[in-house]
Amino acid sequence: TPIPDYLAEVLAACAADASGAVADYIPELAQVEPEQLGVVLATVDGAVYEAGDCDAGFTIQSISKPFVYALALQQRGLDAVLDQVDVEPSGEAFNELSLEKGSGRPLNPMINAGAIVVHTMVGDAGDPQARCEQVLAGLSAFAGRPLGVDEAAYASESETAFRNYAIANMLRSRDSIVEDPEDVVAAYTRQCSVRVTTRDLALMAATLANGGVHPLSEERVVEEWVARQVMSVMATCGMYDSAGDWISTVGFPAKSGVSGGIIGALPGQLGIAAFSPRLDPHGSSVRGVEVCRRLSADMGLHMMDPP
Ligand code: GLU
Repeated sequence: TPIPDYLAEVLAACAADASGAVADYIPELAQVEPEQLGVVLATVDGAVYEAGDCDAGFTIQSISKPFVYALALQQRGLDAVLDQVDVEPSGEAFNELSLEKGSGRPLNPMINAGAIVVHTMVGDAGDPQARCEQVLAGLSAFAGRPLGVDEAAYASESETAFRNYAIANMLRSRDSIVEDPEDVVAAYTRQCSVRVTTRDLALMAATLANGGVHPLSEERVVEEWVARQVMSVMATCGMYDSAGDWISTVGFPAKSGVSGGIIGALPGQLGIAAFSPRLDPHGSSVRGVEVCRRLSADMGLHMMDPP
């Protein structure tokens, strides 16, 4: 079967599952059309295959975390970032108020505590506005086109970001962040509110899979060691508190977000993105996970399988 027909078949097989629920702790996310479903594959040589709602826009949410981690690594170097945020799976929910025993660092950059620290490591210290621009420019470079912020989603999440304020205050109390916690949460929330399509996410993932070079623009966005570090952390920490189940059953580095997006990156091969808003109890897209499971099984994408 030609790839686009195959992808359409995968979507058709997953479409019947209406289980799960859209995220509603961010009011704007509760308003989305829950039936949306799309999948895009982008190879490292620049072939893009798509099916379903792959041009529908949604907020990037937690899928921003690996890419902003990449920007911080690129700008500050590995040691400086590791000094602030560890790379150990937490086994906890993404919004847990927890720090590593002993070191006091956030456990990894894929939970909110780590992502908030990493956000402040991009760009010039002490200038939140300039940093927001740099984060947006960096995410745009990964996507290969200029992205924008969904202002309604930003305003909506800002009104209910109580838990992230608690996390930021916890981080401020031990100088993991040094700026005003409210400003930091506002800037991190803008990062999460960047609007993308499934196609954008597939190309962003493909840029990681391609060692940091965008497959279409051929721009080097980050160095190869950065892409390796980011995909490693995605493999161990990318899927909330089901990361172990994910890597053993689906078998490639991934990251999901509460708006229903999910990406996978297969080093040297391809970027995958799926989108459907209803979430499972871990916070990942029900149909997005199922699409990835099928792709992994049908196309033999599990990294631990012999070639
Ligand atoms: N902006 C969301 C938060 O920080 C992102 C969560 C997610 O996608 O997991 O609560």
